[in-house]
Amino acid sequence: MTANEKKHSDEAIARTMVADRRHFHERPEEGWCEFETTAAVVERLTKLGFEVLVGADAVDPENALGRDPKKVEAAMARARENGVSEDFLARSGGWTGAVGIWRTGRPGPVTAFRFDIDCLEIAETDAPEHEPNRLGYRSRYAGFSHACGHDGHTAVGLGVAAWVAEHADTLCGTVKLLFQPAEEGVRGAAAMAARGVVDDVDWFLGAHIGCSAHLGQVGVSHEGYLATTKFDLTYTGVPAAAGSPENGRSALMCGAATCMSLGSLPGHSGGITRVQIGKFVSGTARNIVAEHAAMLLEVRGETTEINDYMEENVERTVKGLAAAYGVEYDLRKVGHAVTYRGDEEAVALAKAAAAEVPGVESVVDMNAKIGSEDCTVLIRRVQSHGGKAAFFYFGCNHHGHHKKDFDIQDEQSLPIGWGVFTNFLKKTNGLGN
Ligand SMILES: [Zn+2]
Repeated sequence: MTANEKKHSDEAIARTMVADRRHFHERPEEGWCEFETTAAVVERLTKLGFEVLVGADAVDPENALGRDPKKVEAAMARARENGVSEDFLARSGGWTGAVGIWRTGRPGPVTAFRFDIDCLEIAETDAPEHEPNRLGYRSRYAGFSHACGHDGHTAVGLGVAAWVAEHADTLCGTVKLLFQPAEEGVRGAAAMAARGVVDDVDWFLGAHIGCSAHLGQVGVSHEGYLATTKFDLTYTGVPAAAGSPENGRSALMCGAATCMSLGSLPGHSGGITRVQIGKFVSGTARNIVAEHAAMLLEVRGETTEINDYMEENVERTVKGLAAAYGVEYDLRKVGHAVTYRGDEEAVALAKAAAAEVPGVESVVDMNAKIGSEDCTVLIRRVQSHGGKAAFFYFGCNHHGHHKKDFDIQDEQSLPIGWGVFTNFLKKTNGLGN
């Protein structure tokens, strides 16, 4: 490819990425419900010549966290209405996410990149100045929007796929592109990791748009992220009339005691801890002992060990209080992520890759202390098999993630993320390295 042809090809990929991102932005799908998104990804990867893993070949159903079969069924029905083929839905077996694999046929390392594809349950703003409103690609699905930029991640993943297909004769080894479902709530990565799709990986790179990085900045991460566990908890007691409380067992009182006990858990001398009860629903009427209580809660820890300690505290407290109040409990783990530690060699390669991308003004160290991200689960799996991994942020100017007016300046930001991934690949799998 001449320099001119290369520039032309890069520009064409950039245009396609922006169009793809807007396509996905219009059709946001929540975790484990990404059927339209997965179908579009699979179609493109197949067309480009990738071998594609779908459904239970891409994720292990046994290790899927926080998947609601009713929501999945509704999402499949909607996807069907919107033209997703019966063949595809049957092939998915009800499981979203996909892995594209490109084998060059030449010996070399296996390099994997991860792109998360799910949206949030947040209604997009009506503000006329919000770009998706101005340019006519706002979310079509009421109450859902890509308020974390995973539409951009998906588009970048397809952009990388296009580049790999075009430049296959300059590469060795194998390239794997992971389109991961259900990152929100840290639910999907464990299922992909358990399927074994990264067990042969030598180099692994994950990324997020925005966060602390502004447009033109790339932040490369050495360490960070809190380990976290998300729980759904229900108590089932015995209903009774208020006049004869001795006949009842109150799930509501047990729930209230749980709030107070978990809220006053001691911390850990080893580092940051968090506990949050975000939702507590209970009771039917003033004069009835409440039979049911449902709670959504989570814990976090600065290290995986500290998070384990918090997790054990929750399990022990719930079990003890259920016994004390004479109610049944069901404590379900619905999300999980560990902490992140990058490998120096991979971090250095990501930094060098970023420094060479047009439009990048600065490359900085960026270590997120307080958030959580389930890419860490895949990274831990890669490292446990001797692979090397890193994580980076490619910037955009935004008012905050998970907010109704989140935006990403796709024309400028996406080519930067794409550039870091493709430059990284030139370094790990380029012929002549
Ligand atoms: Zn996100």
